Amino acid sequence: MISYGCYAQDHPSLTMTIDGVKNIRNSLGTVDLFDKAVSEKMAIVDAEIELGILVPIPKDMAGGYTHERHKRNFFILQDAGNLYQITGDVKYAQYIKDYLIAYAKMYPTLPLHPTNKSYATGKIFWQCLNDANWLVYVSQAYDCIYDYLSKEDRDYLEKDLFKPFANFLSIENPQFFNRIHNHSTWANAAVGMIGIVMRDQELIDRSLYGLPIKEDNDLAKDNDGGFIYEKGMSKAGFLAQLDNSFAPDGYFTEGPYYLRYAIFPFLMFSKAIDSNIPDLDIMNYRDGILQKAVYTLINQTDANGEFFPINDAQKGMSWNARELVTAVNFMYDFNPQNTALLSLAEKQGKVLIDATGYKVAQAIKEGKATQFLQTSAIYGDGKNGDEGGVGIMRHGDNCLVVKFSAQGMGHGHFDKLSYSYYDNTGEVIQDYGAARWVNIDQKGGGRYLPENKTFAKQTIAHNTVVINEVSHYEANIEKGEAHHPDLFFSDISESDVQVISTKDSNAYQGSDLHRTIFMIKESESDNPIIVDFFKVNATNKQKYDLPTWFHGHLLSTSFGYTKELTNLSTIGNKYGYQHIWKEASSTQDQGNAKITWLHKDKFYTMTSSVELGDEIILGRGGANDPNYNLRPDPVIIHRKKEKSNILYLSVIESHGTYNAISEIPLNPFSSIQEVTILQDTKEYTIANVRTKNQDLVFAISNLNNEHTQSHQVEIGGKIIEWMGPFTLNKKTIKE
Ligand SMILES: [Zn+2]
Repeated sequence: MISYGCYAQDHPSLTMTIDGVKNIRNSLGTVDLFDKAVSEKMAIVDAEIELGILVPIPKDMAGGYTHERHKRNFFILQDAGNLYQITGDVKYAQYIKDYLIAYAKMYPTLPLHPTNKSYATGKIFWQCLNDANWLVYVSQAYDCIYDYLSKEDRDYLEKDLFKPFANFLSIENPQFFNRIHNHSTWANAAVGMIGIVMRDQELIDRSLYGLPIKEDNDLAKDNDGGFIYEKGMSKAGFLAQLDNSFAPDGYFTEGPYYLRYAIFPFLMFSKAIDSNIPDLDIMNYRDGILQKAVYTLINQTDANGEFFPINDAQKGMSWNARELVTAVNFMYDFNPQNTALLSLAEKQGKVLIDATGYKVAQAIKEGKATQFLQTSAIYGDGKNGDEGGVGIMRHGDNCLVVKFSAQGMGHGHFDKLSYSYYDNTGEVIQDYGAARWVNIDQKGGGRYLPENKTFAKQTIAHNTVVINEVSHYEANIEKGEAHHPDLFFSDISESDVQVISTKDSNAYQGSDLHRTIFMIKESESDNPIIVDFFKVNATNKQKYDLPTWFHGHLLSTSFGYTKELTNLSTIGNKYGYQHIWKEASSTQDQGNAKITWLHKDKFYTMTSSVELGDEIILGRGGANDPNYNLRPDPVIIHRKKEKSNILYLSVIESHGTYNAISEIPLNPFSSIQEVTILQDTKEYTIANVRTKNQDLVFAISNLNNEHTQSHQVEIGGKIIEWMGPFTLNKKTIKE
């Protein structure tokens, strides 16, 4: 048991500290990046002070006036607190005091928020989650003016506002407080942070260890269909979040969009714990899990710093988010040897107006920044890192993400073995993300839209195989949570030949899925090519669809097709198929199908091996979407009918550019001449990819993934021999 009897210091003691304030005050006006941050915040807060105290009776959903006003209040109050500490100007302290008293007058009179649309309805906001956000921020403002207030003021605020607020988020909402979930992390941090400011041991204990857990936990569900209580859960509270939320290398099962959100209370509360309960050594808790989570998060980005939009995620979120500014500042403060963080802070172009932000700005001024590099990586999912994972292959600005993770709870998608591909322009082969317009009132008040369940989560919305028009696990979260794919082998050690091979045998009963994706860089071309083998072994004859959700405008195909000119119909009725228009289709002969498209002035071609009778459907999202909730994105669906064992082989190449000013296209045609499956058995898959100058012969061992195993396969009278799960032989083509 940790004793919190002796606090390291007086107030402020959360993210602002007495020593930190001293440093800042001594050098104010000498560190540009920091001074810029302070004056920007000052302009915003000063303008708000002019508006007066605005504490409307809560009634609106996200996007509505009362929601947005109360949300703005907590950001402004936090900034005002820091400004009071930095400048010593009492107008900021008085402003916070007036606000807190206004809240304290209103709070005891508030019923539950009238919207009643959440599994945990808040009081100031429609969900407790937002109330917890409020307390995380406002506890910092209170901390900053603690010594400015009289004891009477403090007693009043704590009795009428803070203590009942903390009790509401915890004791009165155990279904919200006691989960292993990002909502609960916010709740734990909120209760713990106000507990530290108030020196309230009971609140601190509650935040770290949770509420006592009832024996008769039922499996109630939240708004998104996720379980409120995990089976066999025996712990709750902040430390349990650290124990259970992350895989050992820091991967967060809900994906980077949610980790970006969830990391914030982890960071804020950990910083407060670090200053006040140093014995917990929170930054090194569980082998430094919080540090690992931050670095893993930062690396789940494309060349522009945008997070991979896997699971329920809004696109465009990036390492410029305020949570990441906090993460970079806190991590540098904790580990000043990591000077690469400084160049990330330079890209962000802003710092926090606290001691950590000051330290970063000062170090940048001293020229300490070193280059920040994203890396290829494989992250295991699940508490022990053995429930599948996510793989990232990078070459320059090109980046390929392979998802073989666990379901990811209520925000997970049925996207086993799917991939997405990015380059310097952003997404090339996309993951749809979430059907949600966050904080846009016109679109369902900013909440998840019905199409999130009926389309965005479904398998057909992803770049992975769908069997018989049914999603993985029949789109059943319980089944999804019970299973996960596995990594079969990988090699990301050499940047010119990278590969990730994954398997799944639970998404469809009786079908074994095996996908092996290579990213290969040849000197003859500017960009790496992607070579994708998707193999399925099944006992029954069935229908297979492999969608490729590309971004851009279709330029040409190597095959003829019939295009619907006046009447569109959908490609199916269920599991997301009802949301895809069938625009054109083509029945294939044996050979190759090539499709070229243009996106953001770059040319891309997919070359696929096709069998006689295969169908290629050119489709578009947005069918059965009465409210224009979905993006009408294009998709190529490669269909195989009445087959048991199948192999999809596709090569994607980024090969040229278009200059809209000179109007000159460069390399508009793919360099891939032909792709050929040479052999495909249970044991081995052998294929040839012919470029302009070379034959690239890929050989994959489908059953044995040991690195010391030798293999021998005869192809056309020639023997291929290799060691380990795969080999790539290159032969120059003689004219
Ligand atoms: Zn998805």
